[in-house]
Amino acid sequence: MFVEPLFSGPASAEKAKGSGWVEVICGSMFSGKTEELIRRLKRAVLAKQQVEIFKPSLDSRYHEENIVSHNDNFIRSTPVSVASEILLHVSKGEVVGIDEAQFFDDSILEVVQTLAGQGTRVIVAGLDMDYLGKPFGSMPSLMAIAEFVTKVHAICMQCGGVASHSYRLNESSEQVLLGAQSQYEARCRKCFSLSPKL
Ligand SMILES: [Zn+2]
Repeated sequence: MFVEPLFSGPASAEKAKGSGWVEVICGSMFSGKTEELIRRLKRAVLAKQQVEIFKPSLDSRYHEENIVSHNDNFIRSTPVSVASEILLHVSKGEVVGIDEAQFFDDSILEVVQTLAGQGTRVIVAGLDMDYLGKPFGSMPSLMAIAEFVTKVHAICMQCGGVASHSYRLNESSEQVLLGAQSQYEARCRKCFSLSPKL
């Protein structure tokens, strides 16, 4: 489990003050990315830190205003249409969470760098690969610039192995297919490559 960096004593805590960083939580569908994002954010809320959460407005699967994970655990969030909008919304966010980051345009990189540079803890969650097994959007670059990267895994729905792929069950060739959980299976590398596309 990811544990936030510990600061040993007042001297180093003082030194660390004002220093931001970037955390990336990535994985396939059904891997618990959003649950992990919520776990980290809720603990920050409990510590009375200022928390702001954003997600791309095209992801409107559930309630407009909430980041919802699939077990009904949710935190209120602000939908934005482009990544640069995030900077306009952040007032004095000590912690900024960004969900479904793979759907944002490339400016997400600069936004994340700017926030971390201002001393913000930025936690980004998103799919690292699309349904073809290709790196998704800006996620590879976000993983490169992050101080901490956590890859979470699902269980292969074919064989029970470790799944890192999102297998699409229908013929659509759109990279973005929203609101269609039932159209996907989490699969391991072998089951992802062996099964013929339907
Ligand atoms: Zn498998």
